[in-house]
Amino acid sequence: MIFKQRSEPLELVLYRLLNARMDFSENDKKHFWAISKGYEGEVRSDIWLLNLTDHWIVLHDLLLEYNQSIFQIDTLILAYEKVYPLDVKNFEGDYVVKDDKWYNPAGVLQKNPLHQLERCETLFNKLLHELGYHFTIESYLIFNNPEFHLYIPSKHPAIIFPTQLNRFLKKLNSGPIKLHKKYFQLATQLADLHIIESPYPKLPPYNFETLKKGITCLNCSTFLTDETLICKKCGCIEEAEEAILRSVNEFSLLFPDKKITVDNIYDWCGSIKSKKAIRRVLTKNFVLLGKARASHYVKQ
Ligand SMILES: [Zn+2]
Repeated sequence: MIFKQRSEPLELVLYRLLNARMDFSENDKKHFWAISKGYEGEVRSDIWLLNLTDHWIVLHDLLLEYNQSIFQIDTLILAYEKVYPLDVKNFEGDYVVKDDKWYNPAGVLQKNPLHQLERCETLFNKLLHELGYHFTIESYLIFNNPEFHLYIPSKHPAIIFPTQLNRFLKKLNSGPIKLHKKYFQLATQLADLHIIESPYPKLPPYNFETLKKGITCLNCSTFLTDETLICKKCGCIEEAEEAILRSVNEFSLLFPDKKITVDNIYDWCGSIKSKKAIRRVLTKNFVLLGKARASHYVKQ
């Protein structure tokens, strides 16, 4: 059973919103690409793991801490007397391992994912002991992009290649099933220990004045240039109220400290020419607080 679901990381959502409204530096572009790719691989892995027998406990996306060291587990499977932390990699193309060093298809040296896996296992082992559990930990590096190939001098038991995914799952499914209260207790403890980090310090610098204003297409993020709200690129049509509410949500995500006011949302939406329409949508869907210049809207 899925005990803890994965949701799209807020950092990725914010990067996507910013990408439509500002020019990224090369580093920001690379980071945006890397987190999109990572999430895509994790989602693919989650779908694959739906084939796991329902008797196992699965926790997705855990950010934990032991002794002030933070570590991430993409997916954790709790089985009988054994736990499997999985690190999912959406690598694509031909990678090479030489003298314990990993190179990407462009020949650029990468962080060794096996070292990361080892670090994570060590910290997780200590955390489990501290919580009073003495399960065997078996960590795996899951490569699930069918376009991935690794030139590695010798076999490594922790690496699962795309062509081995089915067999790996079969092996897991054949394990003994005797999960009882203790396992659910551990799952609850780990889910409670999950750290939620603010993504804001990691974002490229931006402000309200410099971001491009307007309503973007729901489907393809192109700016909608006229009030009919029909996307000229993909033909997507959205009701004005829905589009305004979506824009208010984007505004609140990007500027959590700014107040939702008619003026702010009017500036933000750009292509809506009527302030009245903005006021109507805000009044209908939000609660008005304060008076005159101090008035602003909050979620109901
Ligand atoms: Zn579109």
